[in-house]
Amino acid sequence: MRRPLVAGNWKMNGLPGSAAELRKMIDALEGGEHCDVLVCPPFPLIAQFVWDSADSGIEIGAQDCHFAENGAHTGDVSPALLAAVGASAVILGHSERRADHGEGDALVKAKAEAALAAKLLPVICVGETEAQRDSGAAESTVLAQLDGSLPNSAAIVVAYEPVWAIGTGRVPENHDIAAMHHAIRQAVVGRYGDAGQKIRLLYGGSVKPGNAKEIFAIEDVDGGLIGGASLKADDFLAIVAAA
Ligand code: PEP
Repeated sequence: MRRPLVAGNWKMNGLPGSAAELRKMIDALEGGEHCDVLVCPPFPLIAQFVWDSADSGIEIGAQDCHFAENGAHTGDVSPALLAAVGASAVILGHSERRADHGEGDALVKAKAEAALAAKLLPVICVGETEAQRDSGAAESTVLAQLDGSLPNSAAIVVAYEPVWAIGTGRVPENHDIAAMHHAIRQAVVGRYGDAGQKIRLLYGGSVKPGNAKEIFAIEDVDGGLIGGASLKADDFLAIVAAA
């Protein structure tokens, strides 16, 4: 009932020449997508990637946006501009934004509302640190982040990304992923009613071709948010095939 989504977060990687990797993905997927595929490169590559992927099964998104439509916000990018150049989604509240830029839940929520107003799909990230998991506070942390970060509309995607699993090669036990996704599902259904059943919940954190199938088979895991393994077409395509 929920179409899987595999989203690639390129982070601060890529140059114009990286369009060759995107081209490989487009050629391999052409016409045969069994799930939604999203690639989120750095801002300056978005317009080029939108152009390159026109009429392919790949959507292009951003990794962040401001909450304002325009104005005196040096270095920021508005949701309206992202939509105007053809982006269809935006990652919000990634743990690297939360850590590097001090972004909190209220700001993430404001950005999500602004993204929705610009007709972008917000991919809202939540996840606990290792210390929070070790102290038994993983679920309460994630539920509190959801409580503060979710917008009023259910037209969103939620990505559960344990901070300690991002870029480390470490992945939670399947039963821990299952328990967290179950808790997140209950939270979004509690908040949005039936519409919460339609929200796709992605797992992110060291998803690779070798573990994607097993992770995507877990109940309430509707795809993945992929960092490092989204940079190479072969790896990313193998993960898409697993979804
Ligand atoms: C991410 O940064 O969203 C992520 C999941 O990274 P990685 O796949 O490299 O762990």
